[in-house]
Order: sequence, then structure tokens, then C-alpha cells
Amino acid sequence: MPELPEVETVLRGLRARALGRRVREVEVRHPGAIAGNAEDFARNMEGRVVQSLERKGKALAVKLAAEDHGPPHYLLIRLGMTGQLTVNPADAPLETHTHVRLSLDDGNEEVRFRDPRRFGRLRCCTQTELEAIFGKLGPDAQLITEAQFRAAMRGRKGALKSWLMNQQMLAGLGNIYADEALFIARIHPLAQPGRVSAEKARALYKAVKRVLDRAVASQGTSFSDYVDIEGQPGNYSPRLRVYQRTGEACRRCKQAIRRLVIAGRSSHFCPRCQPRPRQVARMRGPRKTLRTKKRIPA
Ligand SMILES: [Zn+2]
Repeated sequence: MPELPEVETVLRGLRARALGRRVREVEVRHPGAIAGNAEDFARNMEGRVVQSLERKGKALAVKLAAEDHGPPHYLLIRLGMTGQLTVNPADAPLETHTHVRLSLDDGNEEVRFRDPRRFGRLRCCTQTELEAIFGKLGPDAQLITEAQFRAAMRGRKGALKSWLMNQQMLAGLGNIYADEALFIARIHPLAQPGRVSAEKARALYKAVKRVLDRAVASQGTSFSDYVDIEGQPGNYSPRLRVYQRTGEACRRCKQAIRRLVIAGRSSHFCPRCQPRPRQVARMRGPRKTLRTKKRIPA
């Protein structure tokens, strides 16, 4: 599922390929991909020029300027689980699950939105609507200051893993980078944000920044369907330290990586590098730690 680095990669690609170009025509092939009325969506974008792009967490917005200098519209893009945005020649064969086509300039090229699982959404909104949507999100995980980060952790009792993924606390992290940041900071996923020491909180803050910066530099991680604007997968996967490595050797200490289900999501961690604190967050439902019998090379 695309997280901040993947969305940032799409933003950069779109900036390189679509900035300054005019949206000539919008074809909605599957109205379910649009939040709101599909005809209004198309009409509110046609004839407008891509003026700038912005992102908060995993939400991406394309600012569309009116030719008559009226108020701008924004194309808000949420990639969901499997959403892909690519720029293609207009005559390139159409892949299945292509739900929206935005033809550009003279119509030779187009932006395509493809989404097999259909959790992604496109929406055309006003500046006020966009501000309200962005306003509900916590600070962007790449821009948050250490003081803001620490303040948001204070007094929180749930699992730190869930806190990291809570978009109202910190916008941009999902399962992959939350697991990776906890490993880098050597903190157990069930630790409670409000009980983490100042030293550990600082380590976590730095780990979040580091993992996001490196993943952005590698054009993100490709699991399932994520691709960049040119249709290329990300390069970060070989650098993952714990995510989906259950049973494999920790790259630091050779202990087998474990998987723990927290709030219905898998958490991957090293039991030696990320020791369980005396007091952990209470989990609802059955508690299970899964081990596989895969052999670990010495
Ligand atoms: Zn380890």
C-alpha cells in the first residue's frame, strides 16, 4: 500500500510530466473511482492548467488553474491500496482497471488512473474543501518537528505501532515504514508512546525521518501494485530490515524476525533488538506471536 515515499515519488513524476500542461478532456470509465458526481468531476477539471502539486502525508493534490483567472480547483488523489497514476501515450493499449483518463494538451499524452482493488479515489475540490481535508491530518511525517512529535506522543497509551500509523497524529506512515522505523529506533511495537523515554522518542523521530528520506531516494517500495509515473516499481524493497521478513535473520543480530498482529495489522520486529518493555499496550482480541521454522543461516 502506497505510503509517503511512494506518493512523493508519484508527485515528483507528475510534476516532471504534467506541470504547465492543460487538461483537455477527462474520461471517467468507472464512476466508483470518483468521490462525488463523475460528470461534475470532469467538467470542473477540463480546460484547466496544472499549476502546482502538493502533498500532505499520503494525500496528493494537483492545483488546476482556471484560464479566466477564477479560483483554482484541486484534483485530490488518494491511491488507496493499489492505485496507480501513470503518464502514457494516448494510443498505448489500455490496461484493465483503468478507471480515469485525463488527456493533456493536444491529446497525444494522457494521465491514467488505474486501481485493481478500487480503494483509491479521485476528487475535484475547492481550496476551502482541500484545506478542510488536509486540516484533519496530523503534521506531515517529513516536515514534523521533534517538539511536535514528542508532544503528540505524550500521554498516549495504545501501541506505538498504531500511533505511528494514526494519520491524525502523523501523516504519511503505513505498515511498512512504521515497522522499519521502530526497528531502527530499537523499540518494541507494543511500547506505549506516553511511556517511551526521551532518548528513545528522539531515536524514533530520527528513525522516521531517515527511513522516509531513504525510501524517497529509492523511489519507494513496491509491494502488490505500486509503480511510479513511468510505470516503474520502486527500489527500496531490498533495503527493508523487518517488514515481511518473518522467520528470516535480523540483519543486526541474526535473531529470527517475528510477526505480531496489532489492531488487525501485521507488525514485524526483532525480539532481541526491540525488547518488550515491562509495560506494554493492551491489545484487544487474541494475542499471537508467530514464528516460522525457516532455518536461519549462522
Ligand atoms: Zn536483531
